[in-house]
Amino acid sequence: MLDLLMEKVIILGSGCAGLTAAIYAARANLSPLVLEGRQPGGQLSTTTLVENYPGFPDGIDGPQLIINMHDQAEKFGARFSYAEATDLELRNNHVRIKADDEWLETQALIIASGASARYLGLENEEKLVGHGLTSCATCDGAFYKNVPVCVIGGGDSAAEESLFLTRFASKVYLIHRRDKMRASKIMADRVLANKKIEPIWNTVVTKYIPDEKGEMRAVRLRNVKTNEERELPVACVFVAIGHDPNTKAFAGKLDSDPEGYLIAKNLAESKHPGVFIAGDVADRVYRQAVTAAGTGCAAAMDAERYLRDLEK
Ligand code: NAP
Repeated sequence: MLDLLMEKVIILGSGCAGLTAAIYAARANLSPLVLEGRQPGGQLSTTTLVENYPGFPDGIDGPQLIINMHDQAEKFGARFSYAEATDLELRNNHVRIKADDEWLETQALIIASGASARYLGLENEEKLVGHGLTSCATCDGAFYKNVPVCVIGGGDSAAEESLFLTRFASKVYLIHRRDKMRASKIMADRVLANKKIEPIWNTVVTKYIPDEKGEMRAVRLRNVKTNEERELPVACVFVAIGHDPNTKAFAGKLDSDPEGYLIAKNLAESKHPGVFIAGDVADRVYRQAVTAAGTGCAAAMDAERYLRDLEK
């Protein structure tokens, strides 16, 4: 059961930003309550080896990094709940959060609700998720052994997913709408050097084709240069075309840009006193674990200063 008293700090989200904020707020004796939501751990929990988080020269598994941060925050007194924030009311000197069916009150709120994988918006999409359509190679890759699969996208996520999938699939098609990858050079080079990965350039998926049992059987492709269409048999489609910020619960209540990313006044302060912002929910540019951790730290420090000023 959640504590119904006025909280000092509530943190929405338990990815890299939320957990870093929790570590800092807990070490400042604020006993933060972290509302993890239905998908705890954020994007790092669905990734593989993280090679660019400082301090791990041999890399660290994303889920392990999240477990370590969670344990670190808990050790200093952070509390966790799987409740999901669905609404928010901004008051003069506190904030009300609807978490599942309960309203919670807090003096300071840190929003670190992250971003979620984007899908193409094609017919049958919702029905096919979990039946040969997914955005998480780490979660579902092992189900597709010795069969052809495809990855859609040309960024670092698409590169990382393609490389990971070569462990299982007989062939990995990388379908990208341009003829040049957006991914960092090191990742793009690895993809292009891997014999199991076949890039299909200048091409978009226009249709998912399920079999009679409703499992993915193939995709319809269209070359955007020639308009030529063809069918490509694949047992699973891994969509890696970026993310949308998780801000539905606060729509219209806090400053956001047209795509829904929250806007911070400086690094982590929102325009509303007592509301702080951290991580990918406000970051359309860097979107790295280390920048999320950095803004998580800033949000907790700003919240601590705000609470100290309230007591004066
Ligand atoms: P991203 O960099 O935004 O790349 C998205 C890719 O999907 C782009 O290639 C884009 O094509 C394509 N795309 C977008 N919308 C599409 C659509 N409707 N149809 C077809 N293709 C579409 O996203 P990301 O790869 O998820 O990476 C996000 C951030 O996380 C980046 O900053 C990245 O560096 C970082 N990241 C880092 C690592 C790592 O360092 N190991 C791993 C994963 C992610 P265009 O290129 O034509 O725009």
